[in-house]
Amino acid sequence: MTSNNDTLFARAQLTTPGGVNSPVRAFRSVGGTPRFITRAEGPYFWDADDRRYIDYIGSWGPAIVGHAHPTVIKAVQDAAARGLSFGAPTQGEIEIAEEICKLVPSIEQVRLVSSGTEATMSALRLARGATGRDKIVKFEGCYHGHADSLLVKAGSGLLTFGNPTSAGVPEDFVKHTLVLDYNNAQQLEDAFKDMGDQIACVIVEPVAGNMNLVRATPEFLQTMRRLCTQYGTVLIFDEVMCGFRVALGGAQALYDIKPDITALGKVIGGGLPVAAFGGRADLMSHMAPLGSVYQAGTLSGNPVAVAAGMSTLKLIQEPGFYTRLGTQTGKLVNGLSAAAKEAGVTFSGDAIGGMFGLYFAAAVPDSYATVMASNKELFNKFFHGMLDAGVYLAPSAFEAGFVSAQHDDAVIEATIAAARGAFAQLV
Ligand SMILES: *Cc1c(COP(=O)(O)O)cnc(C)c1O
Repeated sequence: MTSNNDTLFARAQLTTPGGVNSPVRAFRSVGGTPRFITRAEGPYFWDADDRRYIDYIGSWGPAIVGHAHPTVIKAVQDAAARGLSFGAPTQGEIEIAEEICKLVPSIEQVRLVSSGTEATMSALRLARGATGRDKIVKFEGCYHGHADSLLVKAGSGLLTFGNPTSAGVPEDFVKHTLVLDYNNAQQLEDAFKDMGDQIACVIVEPVAGNMNLVRATPEFLQTMRRLCTQYGTVLIFDEVMCGFRVALGGAQALYDIKPDITALGKVIGGGLPVAAFGGRADLMSHMAPLGSVYQAGTLSGNPVAVAAGMSTLKLIQEPGFYTRLGTQTGKLVNGLSAAAKEAGVTFSGDAIGGMFGLYFAAAVPDSYATVMASNKELFNKFFHGMLDAGVYLAPSAFEAGFVSAQHDDAVIEATIAAARGAFAQLV
């Protein structure tokens, strides 16, 4: 019998490049047919064949309170009934801005946008506008959306400027982007010694979630903070993924380091398109209409999206929310590690708050190079074993996983039971 997923995928490819609206959804890395999702509730979603999966991507982070949470749905329905978009300011935008500034104290002022890409792109322009410098520093393996200056990988030599990772990105843009190794504090020191007074900003995922999960060492982030302060460089934490995921105040609360600018997204929209960038008020005052750095958006601060975001931000502040989320994520990773050990599979795992990493490697990786050295073939087999057993992991060995507040003990135990079977197939 043909699966409805196969039928839909064939049809999608006629009118949409690769059949998807974001490349990772196409399952290219793991092979097979992507599942077309019809509905979701709590920790689960269902595909076009009405098969249920325990979901560990949660829309790549936003579904932190679980899918279709009644409070969030009600807020969205109420907002929608009052009208979808006005192109004029609303009180809801003030409220969510106040909430963000309260939860992330380094953010004194914030501007709402509609995607993480817009947030980092605008943060970069702000840093360049405020410093009058062009050069930026990013780190190999960190993803910051698909703006031209950020689709860059390391050049051939140490401290050489980068190469585009996409066709259509002019060399002239990426020649300003220096790509360094994640968690290499010495290399960062060397780069600043060389050209610190020309660097507009350093942008980093303080907990990296786009090369699987890789945590920064405190020393790496502290060195970054010190150098940025010393050279008048803007420190941008891209917390689009880790913000409100690793802790209520984001990775900056966990590491106790204040960036100058923070980019947010994913969780702050609760499943609808809200992202933001914000930070020191003196920097934010460079933004139009106050200052000369231009940025705008027809749907920025959209009232329906803001309602979803605001109700999600309220729910995650309930007492014990992060303790419970962290406990469940920890149980998952420990259970999977034990199951792998039983089966004799080389495996390690890491978890921070509601984010986790699974690695077919003997030790938890600390850099792009060590992540890349993990066994991708084993992951792909494991992925399909889990999918067949009704567990949906990120369809790539190089993506993080996400647990929601609705992943209770029974859900975690069912996942570990499925993993015992999937690991057994690997040996
Ligand atoms: C997802 C992500 C982005 C891009 O956000 P979009 O909403 O997909 O444009 C940027 N930075 C990080 C760290 C992300 O995880």
